[in-house]
Amino acid sequence: MDAELAEARILLVEDDARMRQSLRDLLQLHQCQPVLTATGGDAIEALQCAPFDLVLLDLLMPGVDGYSVLQHIEQQRIDSLVIVISGDSGFEAVSTALKQGAYDYIKKPFTTQELMATLNNALRKIRLQRENRAMQQRLVQSEQLHRFIVNNSPDLIFILDHACHVSFINDRAEALLNFSPESMTGAHITELIDPEDCDQARLFFERVIQEGDQLATAELCFRSNGLFARKHYFEVTVSSSNNPQQGIPGFERGELMLYGSARDITERKEAADYINFQAYHDLLTRLPNRVLFKDRLSVTIFKATRNNSQFAVMFLDLDRFKVVNDTLGHPLGDRLLQSVAQRLLESMRSSDTLSRFGGDEFILLFPEVTSIEGVEQIADKFIHALKQPFYIKGHEIYIGCSIGIAMFPADGEDMETLIQNADVAMYNAKSKGRDSYCLFSPDMNRSPANRLGLEADIRRAISDSELSLCYQPQVDIQTGAIRGVEVLVRWQHPERGLMYPADFISIAEEIRLILDVDKWVLRNACRAVKSWFPSGRPTIKLAVNLSSLLVEQEDFVDFVLATLAEEGFPAQCLELEITESVLLKDQEHITRKLQRLSDEGVDFALDDFGTGYSSLSYLHQYPIDTLKIDQSFIGAVAEGSNTSLVEAIVAMAQGLRMNIVAEGVESSHQLEYLSGLGCRYLQGWLFGKAHPELDIVKLLDLSPEQLREHALQVAH
Ligand code: C2E
Ligand code: MG
Ligand code: MG
Repeated sequence: MDAELAEARILLVEDDARMRQSLRDLLQLHQCQPVLTATGGDAIEALQCAPFDLVLLDLLMPGVDGYSVLQHIEQQRIDSLVIVISGDSGFEAVSTALKQGAYDYIKKPFTTQELMATLNNALRKIRLQRENRAMQQRLVQSEQLHRFIVNNSPDLIFILDHACHVSFINDRAEALLNFSPESMTGAHITELIDPEDCDQARLFFERVIQEGDQLATAELCFRSNGLFARKHYFEVTVSSSNNPQQGIPGFERGELMLYGSARDITERKEAADYINFQAYHDLLTRLPNRVLFKDRLSVTIFKATRNNSQFAVMFLDLDRFKVVNDTLGHPLGDRLLQSVAQRLLESMRSSDTLSRFGGDEFILLFPEVTSIEGVEQIADKFIHALKQPFYIKGHEIYIGCSIGIAMFPADGEDMETLIQNADVAMYNAKSKGRDSYCLFSPDMNRSPANRLGLEADIRRAISDSELSLCYQPQVDIQTGAIRGVEVLVRWQHPERGLMYPADFISIAEEIRLILDVDKWVLRNACRAVKSWFPSGRPTIKLAVNLSSLLVEQEDFVDFVLATLAEEGFPAQCLELEITESVLLKDQEHITRKLQRLSDEGVDFALDDFGTGYSSLSYLHQYPIDTLKIDQSFIGAVAEGSNTSLVEAIVAMAQGLRMNIVAEGVESSHQLEYLSGLGCRYLQGWLFGKAHPELDIVKLLDLSPEQLREHALQVAH
């Protein structure tokens, strides 16, 4: 007690000086140092300046009396116990003081024991109050700590009652789902779940309740609030328990409840979805890839087998895509592929599958097309759709497509056969010419296509001399004489029979074997043409097609010059046919190469002109002597359709003083039209197809009159 008294901060308020003195002495005996004041005013001032545990307060004082001090203490909520010391022991005075908040009173005169007992009491009360307060504070702090932990958890934390109503959810809900915890309290848990996952969620929580699962986990998609709310995926972990002894507020003792937490796994899930998407889709066009296509195909085969029904597989390859890609650049090529995919999708049903097989190849599945007529209609529609120009970044681009069709089960009962036969049919369509489709038929398998096997074969073709050369005449219609011949390669395949360039040139380019093919052709054509002339000096031009890959080779010029020297072939008789794609790559470098050969007398012809979409104005930069108008434009002349392009090309070539060779001239109508335009050199079936060496030599022997006669026979 003495220790407490010694530490207690006591204010003594007593106007009677003697009384004040004796009280102070008494307290000092117990090592207590009270603050003394003689008036109520001083007391109020002292209370404002410092805290006191205890106030010993005289009631009757002149001026501000004890009652006023009590009133001040109450109004200001000053945390001090007041013991009234009063000479006025009337009941009225004491009860007023107690009502005003005094803790106890002591009546003058008093004995030391009385005083000490009263002080003692008050001090104990103060101690209890303090302990209580400290405990309260610890409780509050602990509550705050737990609240902090729960609300700042990165996860949702919730408690559900036995009927799955939310009885608590932490503040995280606000940040993650944009719902206030209050608005969720009382809601059934499925109200927080995305409708798609509601059934799964209901089953999950019911199972936990029924089976009393200790710790169950599920992936669920939660709803979130707001206009642009995206889906949120959570990994939910729940355990059930019966409300323990001490209890969770709001639950009866022993009542079943679920405690759960939910971790936001949206990002992980989206990343996984993306990886999954990547595994099954082509990222450029967002179309299914081979893997997904094959998966769908196998399901379709299964169903059709069970139902005894047919369906169609289609292989679609873009014509002229490579030219666009090479001349206008890959970004534009990519855009074009996307637009093509879009156009194709527009004429498809949702049950059909369009898949990008790679490059400019697409493969399609029509599970509901049960007749050949049906799929032919679709093919026509696609061909028409892709014939229309594409407008991309200011370019007007024309492409087309070749389509091969295989029907289940007639053209194949398993996945591989169906795909391969559609591919074979597509290659057949390609060799028929642009913008066409072909239905698979079994005799195709022996002739062209089947590319996979071809690669190894091409290597062998060069070494085992299965390649041969054909020559097609180019006629000068002013003189009626043969101006030159274009050499065209053929391949006598031991199993597939005679193969045309369309069946293998593009594969040979892919695997770069075209370099060997072209070198072989150049050397052997020079040798052959020279041998036709007993003098050893040919009087015609030899036109040789070159792949852009060969022209890009570092040693291209040296190779050509060396070959000419080795074969003794005059450079002036050689015309190298290149395509626009060559010119647009490394302009300076290419110009230098062409110029070196041109200086030696070699001519250059720009083949397939008009299909490259490039500006005509750049042509004068290159040493190009001849333009070959692509046969598709000459074909248009026959159909009587738009000929303005041909006229423009001829006019331009004449302006640049270039020779013009029109390719693919088949009718006398085309001949008349072209000669009317002033187009001097013509090449086409009208004057002869590509002939083997023996036949072309006979043609060379004809006089102009005989040649004209020959052409007229062909035309009729
Ligand atoms: P190209 O250089 O434009 O050759 C003309 C093609 O049109 C030849 O087809 C020719 O037979 C065909 N043709 C000629 N006159 C007519 C006609 O009146 N009507 C029709 N419908 N077609 C006609 P071929 O021989 O199948 O060659 C196709 C392409 O293969 C050639 O187109 C050329 O780009 C390429 N090629 C041919 N031989 C070689 C070669 O040795 N090396 C390289 N790199 N490419 C070659
Ligand atoms: Mg050519
Ligand atoms: Mg051509």
